[in-house]
Amino acid sequence: MNQHMPPEPVPFIDIGAQRRRLGKSIDEAVGRVLAHCQFVNGPEVTALEQALAQFSGARHVVSCASGTDALLMVLMAENVGRGDAVLCPSFTFCATGEAVALTGATPVFVDVDEATFNMDAASLKRGIVTARKLGLKPRAIIPVDLFGQSADHDAIAAVAEAEGLFVLDDAAQGFGASYNGRRLGTFGRATATSFFPAKPLGCYGDGGAIFTDDAALAERLRSIRVHGQGADKYDNVRLGLTGRLDTVQAAVLLEKLKIFDGEIAARNEAAERYSRGLGNVVTVPLLAAGCTSVWAQYTIRLPKGVDRDGFAAALKAKGVPTAIYYPKSMHQQTAYRDFPVAEGGLSASERLSADVISLPMHAYLDAPAQERVIAAVRSAL
Ligand SMILES: *Cc1c(COP(=O)(O)O)cnc(C)c1O
Repeated sequence: MNQHMPPEPVPFIDIGAQRRRLGKSIDEAVGRVLAHCQFVNGPEVTALEQALAQFSGARHVVSCASGTDALLMVLMAENVGRGDAVLCPSFTFCATGEAVALTGATPVFVDVDEATFNMDAASLKRGIVTARKLGLKPRAIIPVDLFGQSADHDAIAAVAEAEGLFVLDDAAQGFGASYNGRRLGTFGRATATSFFPAKPLGCYGDGGAIFTDDAALAERLRSIRVHGQGADKYDNVRLGLTGRLDTVQAAVLLEKLKIFDGEIAARNEAAERYSRGLGNVVTVPLLAAGCTSVWAQYTIRLPKGVDRDGFAAALKAKGVPTAIYYPKSMHQQTAYRDFPVAEGGLSASERLSADVISLPMHAYLDAPAQERVIAAVRSAL
């Protein structure tokens, strides 16, 4: 490399490194689908659902077309709709609240804990009060395992039980993580995840899955996945979607699942290296007791007074990309600002949206690349 040229940027996520590692096995897996031509409902789809059930400990797995569909399908299967309230954190990707609004129900946004970025049980309780005051019927809670770390599922389950609500866990970023030794996929009535390529377990397009121990719910989900089919596909007993996962994506995921545990370990090593290198200059992410993370993002908070845009520009000049998840909380978005928020406001979400920034994170991030990131962060402050 010419010494006057800037160094190659560190990849923010590195789907290419994994592709090179898995090259032949993925080519062969996709080749098998191309040979048998069952592009919808092929044998890989059933095999993947079984493998995911085994991996997570959930009894039933229903694969589907995206993480958003996974959330929406569970709400549809539970007849959530107009007049109902569903409690969700505001500091999340928009799909969490979007799935609720698409059913006609009202998302009620609650605050998060500033240290873990995950749903705050005290704000959740206030949000339920708010919903009732507005004449809405609280039905469900959607905690999010944000940035890969499991939410406080015991605290949320206690509120759900006391209030008679069901829990739909949004593990789109956290699938593979655990809470008190149990993998996500086994908390609440159902868990939704996404296989979007940038998620910790991603495919080569869009995909998702739903996990549940409830056999009757799994049956309804399998019906909703195919236009609400009954006895056969020309018997429609409810509203549904074209919600299937393609066979090619299932074939890709089966290969990736084989190395997922190792990748989770590598992501945790990378997170530990970051925290050792940066813990004394920025606020590094905190793992709560009993929680693990798959580090979908490694998100830091900048000290007061540091200009975030200037900081990002200084890193970029050194070949270190950054991203802001999320510059606006959901209740600050044009499409969602008219929905209710929990009494007491969402000040933690608003503060986080103003000062978080995410650093490169993936399973193929080696120590030298991380040293570059750490040095760039330290010099930019
Ligand atoms: C990505 C994501 C989703 C949606 O998944 P898609 O597969 O993109 O539809 C839902 N919730 C959260 C928290 C996400 O990060």
